[in-house]
Amino acid sequence: MQELFNSIEYLKGVGPKRAELLRKELGIHTFGDLLHYFPFRYVDKTKFYKISEINSDLPYVQLVGHINNLQELGAKHSKRLTAKFQDENGAIELVWFKGTKWIKDSIKANKKYVVFGKPNLYNGKINIVHPELESIDEKHQTKLNKLQPIYSTTESLSNKGLTNKAIGKLTSVLLPQVINSIKENLSSELIQKLNLIPRREAYTNIHFPTNTKTLQQAQYRLKFEELFFIQLQLIRMKIVRQQKLKGFTLSQIGEHFNNFFHNHLPFELTNAQKRVLKEIRHDCAKESQMNRLLQGDVGSGKTLVALMSILMAIDNGFQSCLMAPTEILAQQHFETISNLLSEMPIKISLLTGSVKKSQRTIIHEALENGETHILIGTHALLEDKVKFKNLGFVVIDEQHRFGVAQRAKMWLKNSNPPHVLVMTATPIPRTLAMTLYGDLDVSIIDELPPGRKAINTIWKSESGRLAMLGFIQKEIEKGRQAYIVYPLINESETLDYKDLMDGYESICRTFKGKQISIVHGQMKSEDKDFEMSRFAKGETQIMIATTVIEVGVNVPNASIIVIESAERFGLSQLHQLRGRVGRGAEQSYCILMSGNKISTEGQERLKTMVRTTDGFEIAEVDLKLRGPGDLMGTQQSGMLELKIADLMKDNAILQYARQLALTLLEEDPELKLPKNKAILGHYKEISNKQLEWSRIS
Ligand code: ADP
Ligand code: MG
Repeated sequence: MQELFNSIEYLKGVGPKRAELLRKELGIHTFGDLLHYFPFRYVDKTKFYKISEINSDLPYVQLVGHINNLQELGAKHSKRLTAKFQDENGAIELVWFKGTKWIKDSIKANKKYVVFGKPNLYNGKINIVHPELESIDEKHQTKLNKLQPIYSTTESLSNKGLTNKAIGKLTSVLLPQVINSIKENLSSELIQKLNLIPRREAYTNIHFPTNTKTLQQAQYRLKFEELFFIQLQLIRMKIVRQQKLKGFTLSQIGEHFNNFFHNHLPFELTNAQKRVLKEIRHDCAKESQMNRLLQGDVGSGKTLVALMSILMAIDNGFQSCLMAPTEILAQQHFETISNLLSEMPIKISLLTGSVKKSQRTIIHEALENGETHILIGTHALLEDKVKFKNLGFVVIDEQHRFGVAQRAKMWLKNSNPPHVLVMTATPIPRTLAMTLYGDLDVSIIDELPPGRKAINTIWKSESGRLAMLGFIQKEIEKGRQAYIVYPLINESETLDYKDLMDGYESICRTFKGKQISIVHGQMKSEDKDFEMSRFAKGETQIMIATTVIEVGVNVPNASIIVIESAERFGLSQLHQLRGRVGRGAEQSYCILMSGNKISTEGQERLKTMVRTTDGFEIAEVDLKLRGPGDLMGTQQSGMLELKIADLMKDNAILQYARQLALTLLEEDPELKLPKNKAILGHYKEISNKQLEWSRIS
């Protein structure tokens, strides 16, 4: 047991300097951390591709052939070495940016090489950058016959010699030292029932599988236990919450709710909105705290449901708050809600990062003495200084933008936790939602307000650009407005930034005399808000933007959204962006601009967008296409630090784990039975570490 807690510094081959790097770059502090640093993929070194078979969708390929035509090209930063790599079926290019001299000198023209690397598409041709190379006679037969683990590493680690291979080496040193400290954590009953391999064997095989079968067994075992213990915690926490945590009972529907409903509601509620409101009322009328996820497609009218729930809380003497992920969105909620309630005696405040200190003090005071009924804002609401007299209802909009810890803070803003409604336009299957967001109950708005015209989605390549621009011109002449969105996936990427600015300039040239706004993440938030509000007021006709406008923004007069390099966006992001139009009475259009050469997956995404506007259908496709890691554009890591399981791909294991955890807790709620001793031991261990998130998610 103890060995697992040893500092990583003391592993042979590490030492103080590397330990520092491992801690900083990979969060590996102890022997145990390294043991749990699993390979993220395995390469089947028995499989060889032919050059004619490969494409840029393949993660890694192993090829065999000859290298010739070595050429040093470019100067300074663009200096590189290229070579032609050829087998009987075709040829590709190999490229090196570093170590070029050494490579040039060591490659022999008449030798056969094994090349291993990731195929890329560059200028319409396949190349491999920095391939691993081995000449055939160096390659021992024994080395060929296995699955090679690939550990992810970072540039600073590789620079210090901690490459994928080096990490594998460290792990092979580690394993024999810790293997006896790994304790079984499942009951023999479960092990038998699921036909699992022992835990120690699983750890050995996850790092060094001898074949695909042993790898799969190890993966299954480790995924199962990971998900099983999460479920066990979640279910137990729910039991505890229901038994011990008192919520505020919102028993009456009173004056404000009724006044709003009868006199100020601008339209008839949809049936879905009515149903969800009933669900919320029902939850809040009980003594326990509500913890509910509201899923509804973009434009389905979630805000109104939130507002009416808030009115219910006010009727019962409680304050409420609504938290949104961006200033723009918070501002917009503030305006919408202030307008809707303008004739009612309700005090609403807006608190964001850009509110001045003096103003803040006033807001804080009015909250603490109970004058303010509704506080709307951004992360600023989470600060400890923000205290309520009696907070009873919390709404979190676009909740996937917030981490669990942030939501947790809201729980502590009153003596009993307030009711919590989290909202999202990024639908995920109900079962998955339960797991991701702990013991949340789920409500769904599956109906759009009447009279909406379906957005017309068109996919165009470069040759359609002139037509696209002409179309925007026509719509603007009709009095409409347009968004043009550029991918600035990582706001610091200079190339993306240049594209955006070039785009801006070219649009300014094309649309002379029109007012054009630009909004991107590197701007100060006051400037962003200023431009956004000019656009919202109709003072500018075109809004050039990055994905900062992705969530929530509501400008009903905007009828066109053009998405540049659309193939680079994820599906849910495209769907969110498209949701910026189609908010008014006019026919709206979404134009997806893409390059000519895009991956099959990219094509699939764009085809899906053209085919349907149904967010749930899009989520399904996303689920099928998505690679590991990124859940609907959400960072999984913040929510659940999963080491091996993937909530999307391993949904079947997840369901099974949940079901078995439920059965177990029904039979043995406190895990007191002798046969469950191993489970209890592990449960206690991880609960100490993870109590925080499981309590609040
Ligand atoms: P989202 O669910 O994406 O947050 P919003 O709450 O912003 O959607 O609502 C989108 C638009 O639909 C708003 O302009 C809102 O006023 C309008 N809306 C909401 N509910 C209804 C309804 N029942 N009938 C007509 N329009 C509605
Ligand atoms: Mg919204």
